[in-house]
Amino acid sequence: MEQVDTHTRGPAEAVKPRRRCGIDIAAAGAAAEAMLRALDVDLDVVDRRETPARMARAFVELLTPPAFNPTAFDNAEGYDEIVVVAGIGFHSLCEHHALPFVGTADIAYVPAKMLAGLSKLAWVVQLFARRLQVQERMTAQIADWLVEQMDPAGVGVRLRAEHLCMSLRGPHAGGSSTTTFAARGVLRDHPDRRREWMGMLAGLP
Ligand SMILES: [Zn+2]
Repeated sequence: MEQVDTHTRGPAEAVKPRRRCGIDIAAAGAAAEAMLRALDVDLDVVDRRETPARMARAFVELLTPPAFNPTAFDNAEGYDEIVVVAGIGFHSLCEHHALPFVGTADIAYVPAKMLAGLSKLAWVVQLFARRLQVQERMTAQIADWLVEQMDPAGVGVRLRAEHLCMSLRGPHAGGSSTTTFAARGVLRDHPDRRREWMGMLAGLP
């Protein structure tokens, strides 16, 4: 539905995976129970007794970034064309409603000294998805993380997602899709390379 281009942003905030040591699952369960009861949900039914605890565990899962080992390889052959990994599925939680937004990421980069392990490009999407997010920030964080990790000649990230806070409430705009871009290096500054990247994106489903 909307198109947001983040390539003109200034330097994004530093990207450091956060340490998460403050999870109190019992308190989260109690809070979930309080919220459901405040919403007049009857929890005194056998099959719902565990619902607050399940809800708490589900949110822990949704808000816990995965641990992974970033792998990179020497670009011994000097590959200098665009690499695109397309259609990486992700889900995140919008920080305004704590409702999911669900979609796909297309990650492009132009190698310099290093080649990325391709699975790394999928892992980094999950790293920034499993937290309260706004799509624009998540797009920029993925791009900046790849720049930091690999020092490539260029990075281009496109996210397309349906936000359930728009589909299930508010305007009830079911089926709408929000697209965001972040570009760094030659994919931002070199017009031919940028056009080539955009052309590759246009050819994707
Ligand atoms: Zn929202």
